[in-house]
Amino acid sequence: MTLSLQQQFAQMASLIEQETPNLLHLRHSIHQHPEISRQEVETTARIEQALVETQSRIRRGPAGVGLIVDIGPPHQPQILVRGDIDALAIQEQTGLPFQSARCGVMHACGHDVHTASVFGALRVLAQIAPERAFRFVFQHAEEVNPGGAVDLIQAGVLEGVVAAISLHCDPTRPVGRFAIQDGPITASNDQFWIDVYGAGGHGARPHETQDTVLAAAQIIQAIYHAFDRCVDARNPFVISVGVIHGGDQSPNVLPTKVRFGGSIRSTHKEVRDKIAPILQRTLEGMASALGVRYALELLPGSPGVYNDRRVVDVFREAVVSLLGEEALQPIGLPSMGGEDFAFFAERVPSAMIRVGSGLSTSLHTPTFLADDQTVPLAAHLLARTALLLSSRLPLD
Ligand SMILES: [Zn+2]
Ligand SMILES: [Zn+2]
Repeated sequence: MTLSLQQQFAQMASLIEQETPNLLHLRHSIHQHPEISRQEVETTARIEQALVETQSRIRRGPAGVGLIVDIGPPHQPQILVRGDIDALAIQEQTGLPFQSARCGVMHACGHDVHTASVFGALRVLAQIAPERAFRFVFQHAEEVNPGGAVDLIQAGVLEGVVAAISLHCDPTRPVGRFAIQDGPITASNDQFWIDVYGAGGHGARPHETQDTVLAAAQIIQAIYHAFDRCVDARNPFVISVGVIHGGDQSPNVLPTKVRFGGSIRSTHKEVRDKIAPILQRTLEGMASALGVRYALELLPGSPGVYNDRRVVDVFREAVVSLLGEEALQPIGLPSMGGEDFAFFAERVPSAMIRVGSGLSTSLHTPTFLADDQTVPLAAHLLARTALLLSSRLPLD
């Protein structure tokens, strides 16, 4: 007998309660044994192990790490629920009883919470909605560029998927608060490297050579100004040079090469499309004026996450039905951070929700803490949202 949505919601609540010890066990074991991007071998095995009792079709990700898990009847339009599983090269200083046992590696972005929450949604939906089709993605390598989302999409993870949802811990909000809005919520994340070449020579006689240090300094200023004047000030945009290398041990030698690199972020595609031509034009002009040569390497990263209004509306409905209006907050200004869920969102209607994980230091710090209570709540919300979305297909 097929249950009504309301009956399924009622069952969901008691199942979440029942599953919570398992979810926390998984969270703690993953937190204690973190693995950096593209090395998530044990993490993948732990999730696989936890899935043993669940009726599902499990595939490894194309890189041998990460998992794609299908439940429900095959060949039906699927709702995809995505969590990321990788950790960061940071020495943990939280003092948690399940603190990282690996020197210099830490789950400092909450991906342990994401993994356990997606696992919880999977467990619940497999038991209460076996007639519906869902795909759960435990994605490797979110923290690097290019991220694991690209590998998965190339391997066909979006075939048959009609909508996708995901979550991210938010240490600026208490547990039980969720933030979401439609439109851009993160920025594109592109990197560049520029090499400036010249003859080099004696610091006493710059007129006999080309000064690559001065040229690099002037080019950096020119790039900052060029973007300032070419990008509509109403659209968020930022460029930062974070690395510069030139010369060696001798302050009286002008080097033959200076290399610098930076990060360029924007929340609008129209702005992002202008990055390469502006960089190219500015470099050409400056190099010619200063008599140096250059090489530009532009490394495109993920686009910005663009939340689809229809999926956002379903997320909102799920939050309000679970915890009431007061649990729901707007995100406000988009983050200039990157998130490779954007590759999913570029292809299918998608939304990512910020999950209050308890007030803490920022993501990517050695003292970042996410409250255990985040896990059952996030699992519940993902399960409820996925079920609602599945019952509303096709999205209008
Ligand atoms: Zn991160
Ligand atoms: Zn993250």
